[in-house]
Amino acid sequence: MKDKTEIMSNNMMDKIISLCKRRGFVFPGSEIYGGLANSWDYGPLGVELKNNIKQLWWKRFVHQRDDMVGIDAALIMNPKVWEASGHLKEFSDPLVECKKCHKRFRIDQVESKKCPECRGELSEAKQFNLMLKTFLGPVENEDSIVYFRPETAQAMFVDFKNVLETSRKKLPFGIAQIGKAFRNEITPGNFIFRTREFEQMEIEYFIKEENWEEVFEHWKKEMQSWMKNILGLQEKNISELSVPNKELAHYSKKTIDFEYNFPFGKNELYGLAYRTDFDLKNHYKEEPYLDIEKNEKLYPHVIEPTFGVDRSVLAVLCDAYIEEAERVVLKLKPVLAPYKVAVFPLLKNKPELVEKAKEIYNNLKKEFTVAFDDRGNIGKRYYSQDEIGTPYCVTVDFNTLEKDEVTVRDRDTMKQEKVKVSQLIDYIKEKIYV
Ligand code: ATP
Repeated sequence: MKDKTEIMSNNMMDKIISLCKRRGFVFPGSEIYGGLANSWDYGPLGVELKNNIKQLWWKRFVHQRDDMVGIDAALIMNPKVWEASGHLKEFSDPLVECKKCHKRFRIDQVESKKCPECRGELSEAKQFNLMLKTFLGPVENEDSIVYFRPETAQAMFVDFKNVLETSRKKLPFGIAQIGKAFRNEITPGNFIFRTREFEQMEIEYFIKEENWEEVFEHWKKEMQSWMKNILGLQEKNISELSVPNKELAHYSKKTIDFEYNFPFGKNELYGLAYRTDFDLKNHYKEEPYLDIEKNEKLYPHVIEPTFGVDRSVLAVLCDAYIEEAERVVLKLKPVLAPYKVAVFPLLKNKPELVEKAKEIYNNLKKEFTVAFDDRGNIGKRYYSQDEIGTPYCVTVDFNTLEKDEVTVRDRDTMKQEKVKVSQLIDYIKEKIYV
């Protein structure tokens, strides 16, 4: 039997999924054809939220640092990459199959030796490789098998030499990438938490071996600060787990998982790993990095901070979702909100108000993402914007025509303030970019 907190949490997840669908954040993928298991599409508001997260990440970790550069590599790489990286051999999860209903499960997701669905007997565990296979070119045979990348990381290693030669970076420095990754997960689920196609924001930070502990600490702090100060996640919902040695990935000597307290339980949001020189050594067998100043050949070691984009979106949504007596509010940090501001003419049937509101709307659009709404009463329009996290609503009324003043209503405090139209852009900018 499920306990009360579990029922409440599932209920909370259902509410978030329903809001996402109803308001255009996330839709079930291929829905008109009956969907495709665990595939999701970002709708008009979801793509804004997701892009905001990606852009803030790029700004903070690439543009604002001197020691980082970016790349955007192909999703399908030469299969030799996956041989050298160890993925073809090692990137697998233990799988068990129910002898009765033939459903398959990841072993850490079954609590007893019985099938979680039909209580049938389970098979012995066997390793199941998570690489998603396809064929490249017109002939489907052994030679045309390729894999969709299961992580973005390997491109940073494979392109390491080209980046080094073209960017003139010296150790320590990092390469960042945002992009899709694919894993043939045995048990996807929990909305966008675990899917077979997802997006990552990853950094491979190249260092000398002796500095690994110090750099690991640096990135740990950077990740903590990103979650708290940029995404605005509540500290009580974040925890850290040092991954025990026997559970470490094949390339890692030390890993920390940053966990988020999702409605379905505490689960990995991000990871931070010390990958040693495993990757560069495997890819550049004869060609170590040359430290020109010391004329010393070496294989750089790597610290890898990795951030799931979809899990970021989910954590942000769960953290921001609040039910109050009369309304549902997404208390998103303004920088993350899909719309920064909404503009309403007080009355739809007064052309002079609508015209003035459109003029203000068009002006604000030069600076922000802006919604326009003239339906129903103002109260309903406020609640509609609250539910999608718009931090400011601007109402254009007769005062606007007479005194060039609008009413600005704050999502969180619900307080209203009069602001001169000429000062509106600065007023909103100041509040949003804090
Ligand atoms: P898990 O233990 O949950 O399977 P992992 O430890 O295999 O995750 P990593 O290989 O460290 O995950 O991947 C880096 C990041 O990519 C994760 O922290 C997570 O944010 C994201 N991620 C990994 N797998 C998925 C997935 N199937 N769906 C969505 N995001 C994922």
